[in-house]
Order: sequence, then structure tokens, then C-alpha cells
Amino acid sequence: VTQWQGTRVTVAGLGVSGVSAARALAGLGALVTVVDGGDSDTLRERAADLTAEGIPVRLGDADTLPPGTGLVVTSPGWKPSSPLFAAAAEAGVDVVGDVEIAWRLRGENAAPWLAVTGTNGKTTTVRMLAAILTAAGLRTAAVGNIGTPIIDVVLDSEPHDVLAVELSSYQLHWAPSLRAHSATVLNLAPDHLDWHGSMEAYAADKGRIYEGNQVACVYNLADKATEDLVRAADVEEGARAVGFTLGAPAPSQLGVVDGLLVDRAFVPDRQKQAQELAEVTDVDPPAPHNIANALAAAALARAYGVPATAVRDGLRAFHPDPHRMERIGEVDGVSYVDDSKATNTHSAEAALASYGSIVWIAGGLAKGATFDELVAGAAKRLRGVVLMGADRALIREALARHAPEVPVVDLDRTDTGAMPAAVQEAGRLARAGDTVLLAPACASMDMFTNYNVRGDVFADAVRARAAEAAEGA
Ligand code: ADP
Repeated sequence: VTQWQGTRVTVAGLGVSGVSAARALAGLGALVTVVDGGDSDTLRERAADLTAEGIPVRLGDADTLPPGTGLVVTSPGWKPSSPLFAAAAEAGVDVVGDVEIAWRLRGENAAPWLAVTGTNGKTTTVRMLAAILTAAGLRTAAVGNIGTPIIDVVLDSEPHDVLAVELSSYQLHWAPSLRAHSATVLNLAPDHLDWHGSMEAYAADKGRIYEGNQVACVYNLADKATEDLVRAADVEEGARAVGFTLGAPAPSQLGVVDGLLVDRAFVPDRQKQAQELAEVTDVDPPAPHNIANALAAAALARAYGVPATAVRDGLRAFHPDPHRMERIGEVDGVSYVDDSKATNTHSAEAALASYGSIVWIAGGLAKGATFDELVAGAAKRLRGVVLMGADRALIREALARHAPEVPVVDLDRTDTGAMPAAVQEAGRLARAGDTVLLAPACASMDMFTNYNVRGDVFADAVRARAAEAAEGA
């Protein structure tokens, strides 16, 4: 008999994490009901599967709490302001997320968690970290806001030595008892403010990742807010603050010296020579923001006791996922780059800083962001801009304020066909040597299923253009 036997659990959301939570808890004897406000064919199919397994699903009403609920397990997309949670609060019922459930379900002697959050770079860093741990011969997996649902990994019979865990601010919000071995907040910039309500609330949720850290709280020396979060956290005695920097590191830091990633934190004698970890060119791509990701991954691995050679081997084995500054091809001397994953201004800023003369394709759902800083910073490098998507006017107005000379083509469209049109327009604006950069600085859901589809449609349009150019030649 487990602690879940007979507990009435309401799972909010019939998505991947909701289904995983429902099955896991039902398997442990909980009386699970899944609720979802939607009522589409896909949802009905999923609901039928679960119902057949004895898990009731209520579609079309996500606002009221099923009677007798003792715990609500929420999915990442649900805002804290959702009526269901107000109903739960009213009834004195706890609301937690899938990460909290995974944390509570992990067994005795479970693998420790090396945890990563931040506005941008989470997936990249977690995958780099998993590559490094694997190179060290450790049994590990990259989990969390990535790949297999974390509950499934924790309950899986396959043993792990250590987990590389990506955590979104949403997941941290709903994971009050999580305690990582070591953790990092990579960076902090406005994003998802519509969900959290304010920058302060967003930062506080990110900062939760440091609570109870046992060994190291890794922070970004270039981003003071991340250090502030470390100082504010209540950590285990002996846990250390470890900064990373693209410059030369002081003792207790990791950094870069003469083209080498070096460690001055996890060395036997802190005053001694820095430990060389890898060459900057081992990082793919060796762009500044990505070297920062590599340093953060290295710091977490070193906190866990991984040798320097494994850091190098792991970084060499790592290659980025698609849609992250992915070079698609070249047409008439112009190169085309898909950074569809730039779903907020902070990531678009990293992309815009990585190329020379740019024709920028942007727009989509702004999620409450403002664009003045981004546009002002990139103005000098912009050959032209092509806009599409629901919130394109916000970017157009920022361009008018900070880059009035830059030609702007506003496609005034929110249909998928706008992407090939944007590629054509961008091609017209570009000159040989320029980069056409899809870095929307916005979410994709106004026009596409997700950023993957947006990037694929872009890449297809670029390939079509390349084929046309080849025929014409
Ligand atoms: P996340 O999982 O946090 O969304 P990803 O690793 O998938 O992060 O990268 C998201 C986007 O941010 C990509 O466009 C990528 O090029 C950019 N990016 C990656 N690392 C950083 C960083 N450290 N700072 C700024 N932008 C970054």
C-alpha cells in the first residue's frame, strides 16, 4: 500500500505530462480524474484510451474541482490564475506539477538531480551536460522539460547514476519540495510574463531551483540577477556559489583563458593553476552565448566530480538541435539561418549579435514583451526587416523609434503562407554576404503548431528558393 492508495487526484490537462502523471498515479493506487477545458478530436481519442484503462476524463470543463479531490497535479501550460486552482485553494487542496510528483516518487538512493533553468539555453545546456556525464561513463538521461516525461524516467526500472534535468519556470513554480544536488539559472530576461504576472514573480520561480542545493549553485557573472537569486536561496550547509564568465575566472569560478575553458572552482587547491577543460572550438557553435552554456554544463558536471577529460569529450560529442541558429543554405551569396527557437527577445538578441549584416524575419506572439532594447541593439546590423504574425506591430513601432532608416516590409499576414513570402522578400532586401535570419523573438502559435513547424516551413522555403536559383543559373 502506497501513500497514494485511495487518494483522489485531479490531473489538470490532457497533454503529454498530464497523461504520464495520470497513468503513474493510477498505477500507484490513486483515484485519478483528468480534466481538460478542450474538447477536440485528439483530446477525445486520448480520453478514450485513458478511460479504457479505468481513468475517467472530463472534457470541456476545466474550471470546477471534481468532488473529493485531495491533490491537483497541473500541466505546465496552465496559468496560476486558472479558475481550477482558485477552486483548489478554496477547498484547501494542494496544487503541484509533474516535477514535484517525480521528485516525491523517486526511490531511496535515487539518482541526484543536476538542474538547469534560465530564460534561454536550457535544452542546449542540459544536452551538453548529459553528453559530458555520458563521456564520464555515468548512466544518465536528459529529462524534465525535454524528451521523456520526468515521471516516466523516475519510475523506469533502468537505473541512473545522475540526471540532467531541464526545468521551466512553470515547473519550478509547482515543485515546492525539489532539492537539487547542484543547479544553475543560466540567465534571466523577461519572458512568459503573461503567465507569471510580473518579472519579480518569474525571477522568484526561477530562483526556486537553488533552494536546498547540496553542492553548488552555479550562476552567470554577466547576469547579476542570477547571482542575486543564489544569495536569496536557502541552501544546504557547505553548498557553494560558483560563477561562470566568458572572461578570465577568479578563484571559485569557471571561465575562458587563451581560447580554453578553465575551471578554478572544482580544483584541489583554489589558488593553484586553473584546470583546463576544453578548447573553445570544442563547443558547437562557439558563439558567446553557447560558450556560456558549455561553462554552465561543465560547472554542474564538475560539481558532481566529473574529470576534465570527460568535459572535453562530452562537449566534442555534443551537436545542437535543429532550429537553433541552424544554417540552412546559401542563395546568391546570401546565407539563410533558422533560429525559429528564438521565441523571446533575449534569444533573438543572441542570434542578432552573432552575424554581420542581417535581413531579419520576425514576429509572432509577443507574450507581453517589449522590443525597444532588442531593436535598438541590433539597429546597426540590420539591412532590412520582414514582419509577420499577430504582434508584428509592436516590432514595427520599435523599429520606427530606434531604426527609422532600416527598410521594413510588413507582410500584414498571420497565415502559414506568409513564411515563403517572407523568404522571398528577405531575399530581395539582402545583398551578397548578408545573412537572412529567422529569429522571430516571439512564440509561433499564432501561425504554426510550434517553433519546429515554423522553422521547417522556413527551411523548405529557403530550399525552394535555392532550387529556383540553381535552375535559373
Ligand atoms: P531553452 O530550452 O531555454 O528554450 P534552447 O537551448 O532551446 O533554450 O535555446 C533557445 C534559443 O535561445 C535558441 O534560439 C538559442 O540559439 C538561444 N540561446 C541558447 N543559449 C542562449 C543563451 N545562453 N543566451 C541567449 N540565447 C541563447
